[in-house]
Amino acid sequence: MANQENKKSKSKELKERLFIKRKNTAKIFTETEQKKANQFCEGYKNFLDLAKTEREAVVQAITELKKAGFSEYEAGKKYKAGNKLYTVNRSKSVIAVVIGKESLESGVNILASHIDSPRLDLKQRPLYEDSELAYFKTHYYGGIKKYQWTAVPLALHGVIIKSDLSAVNVTIGEDEADPVFVITDLLPHLAEEQYKRPASKLIKGEELNILIGSRPFKEDEGSELVKLNIMMLLNEKYGITEADLLSAELEAVPAYKARDIGFDRSFIGSYGQDDRVCAYTTLKALLDLKKIPKKTAVVVLTDKEEIGSDGNTGLKSAYLKFFLSDLAETQNVALRTLLSNSKCLSADVNVAFDPTFPDVSEKLNTAYMNYGVALTKYTGSRGKAGTSDASAEFTAEIRKLFDDNKIAWQTGELGKVDMGGSGTVAKYLANLNIDTIDVGVPVLSMHAPFEVTAKNDVYEAYRAFGVFIEK
Ligand code: MN
Ligand code: MN
Repeated sequence: MANQENKKSKSKELKERLFIKRKNTAKIFTETEQKKANQFCEGYKNFLDLAKTEREAVVQAITELKKAGFSEYEAGKKYKAGNKLYTVNRSKSVIAVVIGKESLESGVNILASHIDSPRLDLKQRPLYEDSELAYFKTHYYGGIKKYQWTAVPLALHGVIIKSDLSAVNVTIGEDEADPVFVITDLLPHLAEEQYKRPASKLIKGEELNILIGSRPFKEDEGSELVKLNIMMLLNEKYGITEADLLSAELEAVPAYKARDIGFDRSFIGSYGQDDRVCAYTTLKALLDLKKIPKKTAVVVLTDKEEIGSDGNTGLKSAYLKFFLSDLAETQNVALRTLLSNSKCLSADVNVAFDPTFPDVSEKLNTAYMNYGVALTKYTGSRGKAGTSDASAEFTAEIRKLFDDNKIAWQTGELGKVDMGGSGTVAKYLANLNIDTIDVGVPVLSMHAPFEVTAKNDVYEAYRAFGVFIEK
């Protein structure tokens, strides 16, 4: 007996020494920590409500940056350690910087997230009337399950640039007194044929038509009187004609606000948490820097990630490189030297294990709710295609950094091998010869109109990004 007990304790001792110390429970927060995390998430929820589009996220970011003493970057100006600056790219992306003590020769620490989210964009000629009902036609943006976007209240956000080049900002559907909009779905009683469609076509792209009115223009007879009445209302409210919609960016997004989820209020439910959860936590990490960092800290909030990062506001473009080049010049440093010595956390969400759909995730490598930020060495699909795959060296550096600072973190892999896959902006930074790895918050119902995160993961992300740029 005694011998056996001995053996047991020996195996226990060996396991403790040799196995991954993966706790079987989520990180338990002390009362003080929990209070801080909850409080942090109140600010985050507010940001979610005010920043439902990339343009609005930029406006919110600028407001916060100015409040914290950041000023707009001036080309040619010399900056010194501790200086705080930001620059905006075409109202849709922001780069914010705190100049570090070391020369830019030793590189910068970059946190890169995206502020665009899946949504329904209005087409260039959206307005039509059918059977005396008025509609807007849409073209969805990013990867959505189309059926999820029917029968939910929608708000319209965006900008209309008129033919005189003046801008009209639009936000309708957020105020309690505003009307909202909706895409109708078929009643189950008549859905027999619809049910036979494959789920990806349960609602087709051309069926994502937004109901916007039904009362006709009364003073006359003729065709398209409902459309005419809507156009009159739009003209009254925004001073626009139908042609102005040709040069507009109007985005339909869920009209509801971020809410706590659960009796214990442990989750946040909201539209657009991919990836505003990382936008907010990286920005806050920069705003809350307690001392001047050794290396210059750079936070990038970018656009167009959800459709492949193309375009001049996405990270495939040269806007970040050009800015870093300008910055390097202020210290007579070669851009290639700055880039080659830089490090980046590509801050984006990852899938959280969903017990209702366990089959898509591989239990050992997926991320779990409440286990902290997910450190993802590679994304991609079909044999790691389309990922920058962080090096063992850089992965070790980040895991040590998180361990040394008691950050709750875990691994994350988006689904089983060959189950699907995805990418982030990581590769566009890595392609600039920057050491890059993905770090982000696990999400349930990703890309749905109401995504779920765990408050404690949001807070750990904020802490993780903080220790990375404090270095
Ligand atoms: Mn994302
Ligand atoms: Mn996404």
